[in-house]
Amino acid sequence: MDGADGARGAVLMVRRYDVAVVGLGAMGAMAAWQAARSGATVIGLDRFTPGHKRGSSHGGSRIFRMLLFEDAPYVSFARASLGLYRELEARSGTGLLDRCGGLLIGSRDGPAVAAARRTGVPYEELDGDALRARFPQHAPAGDDVGLYEPTAGVIRPEAAVRAAVAEAAALGARIETGTRCLSLAQDDRGTTITSDSGVHLARTVILAAGCWTAGLLPELALPIRPQRSVLSWFRPAEGAAADHGPGRFPVFVRRSGQWQGWGIPDVDGSGVKVGVSGPASPKRWLTRPEENWATPPSGAETDPVAAFVRSALPGLRPAVASSRACMDGRTPDGHFVLGIPAGRPGTVVCGGFAGHGFKHAPAVGLAAAQLALEAATELPVGAFSPDRFGERS
Ligand SMILES: Cc1cc2nc3c(=O)[nH]c(=O)nc-3n(C[C@H](O)[C@H](O)[C@H](O)COP(=O)(O)OP(=O)(O)OC[C@H]3O[C@@H](n4cnc5c(N)ncnc54)[C@H](O)[C@@H]3O)c2cc1C
Repeated sequence: MDGADGARGAVLMVRRYDVAVVGLGAMGAMAAWQAARSGATVIGLDRFTPGHKRGSSHGGSRIFRMLLFEDAPYVSFARASLGLYRELEARSGTGLLDRCGGLLIGSRDGPAVAAARRTGVPYEELDGDALRARFPQHAPAGDDVGLYEPTAGVIRPEAAVRAAVAEAAALGARIETGTRCLSLAQDDRGTTITSDSGVHLARTVILAAGCWTAGLLPELALPIRPQRSVLSWFRPAEGAAADHGPGRFPVFVRRSGQWQGWGIPDVDGSGVKVGVSGPASPKRWLTRPEENWATPPSGAETDPVAAFVRSALPGLRPAVASSRACMDGRTPDGHFVLGIPAGRPGTVVCGGFAGHGFKHAPAVGLAAAQLALEAATELPVGAFSPDRFGERS
């Protein structure tokens, strides 16, 4: 239902929508697409232009994999997302997910490999010798194995966000960019969204504002904290470029010995993108997400990545070719927040994607749209309840 509700003679025109999506990054863009395709009237707002570099959804590439070592609900989200990515590609005529295969490298009996084996996703297991022979770009440790997943690949994040927003608009959604949501006030009519360009009324709101999510609903005290991480690119050694393109170098995640690292082939001539996580690379908490923009990556942030490259990827030059700061929302238990908080029935909170959300974004968008329109979803969101954190001091 989209209509004008302006007081007679007043300049202010309040428009009504079934669903308002606040934030059009990975999650909000997909939610707007899914809500619009269901026939609902939708408005999507973002303070910047979709595909921008100030949130969590930039940097040219993201890993898609279904052979996950995170907990069980995520496999359902990744499976559903694969189909939706393909559908969005077909509708937009844009390549969004290049299937170059993926490797999970880890200790044979370690928890990551054990969890991945339990997913039911097809893979080929390579012992250390087979891994070295087939993928000599890697230097595995003593008891490492490689699980090769043919369905894994590289997502183009900016293109995926733009395609989903364009699809939502083509289905009738009103998209307002360069518009900052200032407040969300709920009453028995729905939620009044006040932005720096106007006022809108929506039956339900999907709040998908990335690192800004908790700040827009301070009364819920959601423990979603912005954390900075740095993306770094490395050039192949002389003569090794072809070995590090998507044809020969699958995306990888490594969980072996001291290393928790990941990498993405050179998809655009910028080099191989590599990151590290875990104790070798402590990440900085941000008091305000905006701090991230003003702070270029430091040597202290990129040195652990270079050390990982030196030890694990012998075909790359260990000098950082370029780097860029990114950030994501983190929760105390490391899991997403996706659901309707008790006491706030007209709001779907969609945040805390903890450095691994992009692969799941289309399914997160589907679940958020279903929750907004039907207060229920076919996807397993139970573990992601915004109410699970309980009393906080
Ligand atoms: C370094 C790094 C590497 C990653 N690698 C991977 C990977 O390989 N694979 C993977 O699956 N995931 C990966 N992720 C995680 C993934 O990129 C994120 O989980 C995902 O992009 C989060 O999207 P989002 O929509 O929640 O946030 P965002 O993309 O930040 O979107 C939030 C949007 O809200 C808007 N907004 C904020 N406040 C307001 C307001 N007041 N009014 C209007 N609009 C507002 C912002 O402008 C922004 O566009 C990585 C993350 C990082 C940081």
